[in-house]
Amino acid sequence: MKTKNFELYNERRKILIVDDEEINRALLEHILSDTYETISAENGREALDIIKKEGDNISLVLLDIMMPELDGISVLKQLRNKVNIDEIPVIVLTSDSHAEELSLELGAVDFISKPYPPQEIIRARIKRTIELYYDRKLINYTERDVLTGLYNMQYFYQYALYMDQKFDEDMDAIVLDIHHFHILNERFGKKHCDKLLKKVATNLKRIVANSSGIVCRNEADTFFMYVKHKDNYDDILEDINSLDENLRFRMGVYQCVDKKLEISQRFDRANHACNMIRDSLTKHIMIYDRKIYEEELFEENLIDSFKKALENDEFIIFYQPKFNVSKDVPFLNSAEALVRWKHPKIGLVSPGIFIPLFERNGLIEQLDYYIWKKVAKDMKEWLEKYNYTVPVSVNVSRIDMYNHNLAHVFKDIISEYGIDSSNILLEITESAYADDEAQIIEMVKELRNEGFKIEMDDFGTGYSSLNMIARLPIDVLKIDRSFVKNASEYPSDIKVLEVIIDIAKYLNVPVIAEGVETKEQVDLIKKLGCDIIQGFYFSKPIPKEEFEKYIVERKESL
Ligand code: C2E
Ligand code: CA
Ligand code: CA
Repeated sequence: MKTKNFELYNERRKILIVDDEEINRALLEHILSDTYETISAENGREALDIIKKEGDNISLVLLDIMMPELDGISVLKQLRNKVNIDEIPVIVLTSDSHAEELSLELGAVDFISKPYPPQEIIRARIKRTIELYYDRKLINYTERDVLTGLYNMQYFYQYALYMDQKFDEDMDAIVLDIHHFHILNERFGKKHCDKLLKKVATNLKRIVANSSGIVCRNEADTFFMYVKHKDNYDDILEDINSLDENLRFRMGVYQCVDKKLEISQRFDRANHACNMIRDSLTKHIMIYDRKIYEEELFEENLIDSFKKALENDEFIIFYQPKFNVSKDVPFLNSAEALVRWKHPKIGLVSPGIFIPLFERNGLIEQLDYYIWKKVAKDMKEWLEKYNYTVPVSVNVSRIDMYNHNLAHVFKDIISEYGIDSSNILLEITESAYADDEAQIIEMVKELRNEGFKIEMDDFGTGYSSLNMIARLPIDVLKIDRSFVKNASEYPSDIKVLEVIIDIAKYLNVPVIAEGVETKEQVDLIKKLGCDIIQGFYFSKPIPKEEFEKYIVERKESL
């Protein structure tokens, strides 16, 4: 935005000359064509057509008043009614002093009287008018957020740096976010919510003025403040929360900012703190502290060492068996491949830590691909060694589902290692479907066409409607482990588990229960009609070599 306007300053400006007398047009063209690009019109009608076509490309109109067809005054009147082009400055050319007054009233910025004054004067007035026009435009469009009239981001950052230079004080960077603003938008409509945002802006201006600070709007419902340090922000939060009963704010604060950091990084920190309480119902202010800093550092460290880790085979696979309990003696049904990171400095890192991080920055695609290949390689090894394998499920991140090539990727992997597609199950978490139902369903169909089986993972936590689930092309439902846990801790939650298993039966797909840790849980789940169980009760995820004993055992029982 800023650079664009800056360029606008330098580029060769276009001036529209409107006069019915050729000699006048030629004269002005002669005076101006060194510095400007000129276009000419012989009357008002032609001028309006050109303005309509060229719009903002025209920087100035020199407008004669006395013309046939459509005179200058009528042109001014029409321009004034068109909101988008009434901004282009018009200098009126006339010998009639009455017309001068009228045209100024109608929005002309200046006039040049006929006969023309010396060339230098004409040039100077034109130059001045154009400069003023672009200055004003720059201020209007760049410095202010159109909706709220607050500074926009770039200007806000510049002012913040300016404040650093001017005052030697501790400063705080604050991010304010409105809770569930999109829901307010849906409930009350955009117009009403725009009004709310304006109200918030006005009041934030008042608030920062009291602490010698500045405020801007970042995105829709996010505001940044840069203020002199305060120990406590409860009063400010209370103040803005009282603006409207439907407004509830959360606040991330990075106190006494490190001024060696780039200004945007200071707000990244405040924003990070703010995001940490995104889903909290009780905590509304989060201060960026040492602990968060260290967590961020740890995450950065993991990201930095990712590439090396792939090269050095630091990611290893553990297999967790799933058992079929429909007969008296449970037997191996399949396994889930779960990644672990053997980090040379940190030690064994659990996927719960790095998977969400890699999902956020996209590295997950590379990691998943690596894991899928490794699983196929292991299965090939088992087939060669034992002439037998059980199906293995791999986790497919929601990010992977947006890769239009995914079905090919899997097809290539299994053909490279000679695995049958029916032996690979793909676990896709339920909440992924909610992100973009149509896209996910299409991809799932494609994968199933290639013979892969789809497991819906973490079922019950994704808030899908029954309607949607009924239409889903899936092969297995995997009940989230929280339901198993709750059912064994709170008798009333057994009903919930029962309902979930009922849904699966209604859909006519097999159900897997995961996170099963005790004999009581096994019995309960069996009783409710679920036959496949994964969990610590049978086995934790274990290294490949250890898992092979289950394969051997199963093969021998056949
Ligand atoms: P998930 O897909 O829901 O995997 C099941 C998790 O439950 C595993 O955690 C497993 O170790 C744990 N678990 C299994 N049985 C029990 C039990 O009886 N009790 C308890 N408390 N936990 C049990 P893990 O291995 O830490 O993996 C965490 C998550 O990381 C996985 O959840 C999955 O979402 C993700 N993940 C793991 N490997 C991969 C991978 O290769 N790619 C992707 N995209 N995600 C992965
Ligand atoms: Ca899984
Ligand atoms: Ca799961």
